[in-house]
Amino acid sequence: MPVDELARVDATAACPKHMEYGPCGGVGFDGSCEIDAAHACPFVQLDTVRWHGVVAERSPRPADPVPEPTVSAGAARVRALLETRRIVVADFPARALDPRSLEDCVAEMVGPVDAVLSGDAGPARVQFAPTYRARLIADAGILPFIGVNCRDRNRVALEGELAGLAHAGAGVVHCVTGDHTETGSRPDAQPVFDLDSTELAALARAAGHLVSVGESPTTPPIDRRAARLREKEKAGAELCFVNHCGGAEPVARFIAAARALGSTSRFIPCIPVVLDEGSAQLLRTFTTLVLPPGYLEGILCAADPREAGIAAAVELSRAMLAIDGVAGVDLSGGAAPGRETTHARDLAEIARRLEDVL
Ligand code: SF4
Repeated sequence: MPVDELARVDATAACPKHMEYGPCGGVGFDGSCEIDAAHACPFVQLDTVRWHGVVAERSPRPADPVPEPTVSAGAARVRALLETRRIVVADFPARALDPRSLEDCVAEMVGPVDAVLSGDAGPARVQFAPTYRARLIADAGILPFIGVNCRDRNRVALEGELAGLAHAGAGVVHCVTGDHTETGSRPDAQPVFDLDSTELAALARAAGHLVSVGESPTTPPIDRRAARLREKEKAGAELCFVNHCGGAEPVARFIAAARALGSTSRFIPCIPVVLDEGSAQLLRTFTTLVLPPGYLEGILCAADPREAGIAAAVELSRAMLAIDGVAGVDLSGGAAPGRETTHARDLAEIARRLEDVL
């Protein structure tokens, strides 16, 4: 086996998430592992792992024939929308496992907000299954972008969800490896990590989805994050959510670096939404969070933090939307407990103030 391949196999064996296409987005700023600060992430020192397919230790046995994948109608809607203008996506603030909260939040956002991203949350690891969430959100009247992670399901369960999501109206399937169970509310659960985000992106694309992935420009190895995105594109990703990396300039640099490598992605930068101390606390739980200098303090010290938070999100969104390659923004963060519906209303207000630049 060539030396570089041997090093990659060793890195996969040493990684708590068994990543084939590491590193994940949770690498510490000093290059340490997301869940063990005493150990360096082995992928940081390696060359970017090139796309070489979904890896399996064993081949599947013959199974009953299955129908051709359904081409997701939701994906077709998003593709058509992206051809006409930029979009506003919002992290879905509804309480987990609460259909009433889900409906209330959708009712506040439908119209100015184009789609909601409903994924994982550290304080609420137990969620309705992705397929069911997509159906509920679509039925409530807004386009669901559904986050799927590799922590909670093996490849068989993921394939079932991906097939269901195409029927359930998912506009986008956002493929993430996922935080380790050690970092959220359910460290009692066994982490799975049968696949990683790059492999999941390939399966999602094959299942008929419009696929998004995340990338973290300010997380080590900083000089190779754009190259890692390029490999995810080869696997099937078409949209890239750019994680919080300090403002419009770092995002512009990242997009330019990706384009120089041949990237064809549409980019959706994350915009931090802070409206009160509760939403600030939730944002602080995001791994490898980098905010524009003074962003949080400027909002929390203002006479009216809610208005200051809305104004800051609008200003940053406008700066992001002026960058070539940006197809929309993601209003990112979450609500303080009990403020989900109010938070949804404020997300809609931010989106309303962006209508002239979409
Ligand atoms: S930082 Fe992520 S990719 Fe690196 S070893 Fe830890 S879990 Fe694996």
